[in-house]
Amino acid sequence: METKEGRKVVTIPDLITVRQLAELLGVSPIEVIKELIADGIMANINQTIDYDTAAVVASDMGFEPREEAPLPLPEVEAPPAPLTEVPLREIYAQEAPEDLEPRPPVVTVMGHVDHGKTTLLDAIRQTNVVAGEVGGITQHIGAYQVEKKGRKITFIDTPGHEAFTAMRARGAQATDIAVLVIAADDGVMPQTKEAIDHARAARVPMIVALNKIDKKDADQERVKRQLAELGLTVEEQGGEVICVPVSAKEKEGLDALLEMILLVADLSELKANPHRPAMGTAIEGKLDRSRGPMATVLVQNGTLKGGDNLVMGSIYGRVRAMFDYQGKPVKEAPPSAPVAILGLSDVPRAGDTFEVVPDEKRAKTLAQERAEKEAAGRRLPRLSLDEIYDQIQAGKVKELLVILKGDVQGSLEPVRNSLERLGDENLRVRIIHEGTGNITESDVNLAIASEAIIIGFNVQAEPTARSMAEMEGVEIRQYEVIYKLIEDVEKALQGLLEPVYEDVVLGQAEVRAVFHISKRGKVAGVYVEEGEIRRNAQAKVIRDGEVLYDGQVASLKRFTEDVKEVAAGFECGIGLDGFEDFEEGDIIEAYKKERVR
Ligand code: GDP
Repeated sequence: METKEGRKVVTIPDLITVRQLAELLGVSPIEVIKELIADGIMANINQTIDYDTAAVVASDMGFEPREEAPLPLPEVEAPPAPLTEVPLREIYAQEAPEDLEPRPPVVTVMGHVDHGKTTLLDAIRQTNVVAGEVGGITQHIGAYQVEKKGRKITFIDTPGHEAFTAMRARGAQATDIAVLVIAADDGVMPQTKEAIDHARAARVPMIVALNKIDKKDADQERVKRQLAELGLTVEEQGGEVICVPVSAKEKEGLDALLEMILLVADLSELKANPHRPAMGTAIEGKLDRSRGPMATVLVQNGTLKGGDNLVMGSIYGRVRAMFDYQGKPVKEAPPSAPVAILGLSDVPRAGDTFEVVPDEKRAKTLAQERAEKEAAGRRLPRLSLDEIYDQIQAGKVKELLVILKGDVQGSLEPVRNSLERLGDENLRVRIIHEGTGNITESDVNLAIASEAIIIGFNVQAEPTARSMAEMEGVEIRQYEVIYKLIEDVEKALQGLLEPVYEDVVLGQAEVRAVFHISKRGKVAGVYVEEGEIRRNAQAKVIRDGEVLYDGQVASLKRFTEDVKEVAAGFECGIGLDGFEDFEEGDIIEAYKKERVR
């Protein structure tokens, strides 16, 4: 539809994002943003603007705006957002303090291959699990609990930071404490560093288990020096990292390790509310030939009970049977307890979060909604530089997190040094993990979990890592020349640096008369002395050198016609938003905000 003047009519809703408006007008978002800036409005591409603003832009761009009839209000109230989409720490914070009770710590064991993670987990299980009666299932369920001084500790039985971060990438944070196993004869190795970075990125406290102290060539002091170089100073040297010498093989030092775990747990004040329906995370899922889908879950808040209906990721179910880590049937599982459950519609993935819902119908619909969402393509995490830019604009991000992979250690150092020098106090590059070798799935998981980008220098991305990154929207940038890498990140940062705006004066006018207009109130009849006055510019009213008003031009007329601008040497009428007390001789200064950086 067109008006008589040939202007195309566009129907604009009450609220619209800059991107949507650009699509509606068939122009690029940049043009819309430019037009908004000319009107003194700073908006990014995802920002929502109201009809009035959108209409001015549309009209300035030659369209005839019409307001869309508002949508009828929905009749039914939308159900509350599923709790599993809310971070756990927020959920704990929402609980009434009197409902919170201490809960056992959940521990993951990490470290370099062959340093003794599996042996340590087995040794702890053998020496500390109270022998129970033979239960209904006899296999390991992926987690177990031990008792020390009458208190429980939960161990996740899949060692390694890869599994830990893969779960984090799926939105789950199951671990409270990381035990970093380092073989005292071998010292800090590449995966030790990787494990440290992954635990740090998750802000999980670490305890170092210095393993294999029974070996002749074990050198504890050397390991401590290596740790100090990585910024982990052990307690006896004035640092904060607890270091416990152990021998998993000889089952030595295990008591001390458990005591230290309890100590760190006390410092973290781990609590949960057992008096509510359960929620938590799947640690393991498998298809049992005779029993059907089976999952090991970690209850993280509330108490899980037999017969509970639940939704877990995009599957649902009802707890038909529940077993503890010894295979004993149980009726209830309190916070931090790992249990194997039967009765799910399918096999969950490690890291799928679950919550108990009131009835089966709700469980089914929620699961179905999620399955549809997944089928329609996962919501991409906001990880590209462009999207991080939006977050920065919204004040959410102050650091560009980078995972840096290089071919040799020698080439990583200059890259790191240059990257860390970029930016300013408002926005810096922080390298959360650095290592040699190709870009792996573990790197991509860390990037997802931490909202980081991956930079590769003279390395390839493994095919599985690349396809995963593409699916999840993780940005991988690869370089072969150092200056190009630095230049790109610098450019990105400049785009990211919070924009700085300066007032640029457009023109000045002197008030010659004050008119009263019935609908509008008072407007100033002015003579433009310098530059020009624009409708939708910002304006100041200055009297005797003093600024009386700083706001927005509301109307600009030549005689009775609305106009876009009036140049020096002409008279016009100016109305201001929220100011009417004009006096003859006042100066009206029109200005716009211009981005200078
Ligand atoms: P993971 O890859 O970290 O899980 O390491 P494993 O637990 O599989 O152990 C690797 C090797 O180190 C095995 O041969 C273990 O028997 C051995 N090992 C583990 N802990 C100790 C220890 O405390 N002392 C000695 N001497 N050997 C150990």
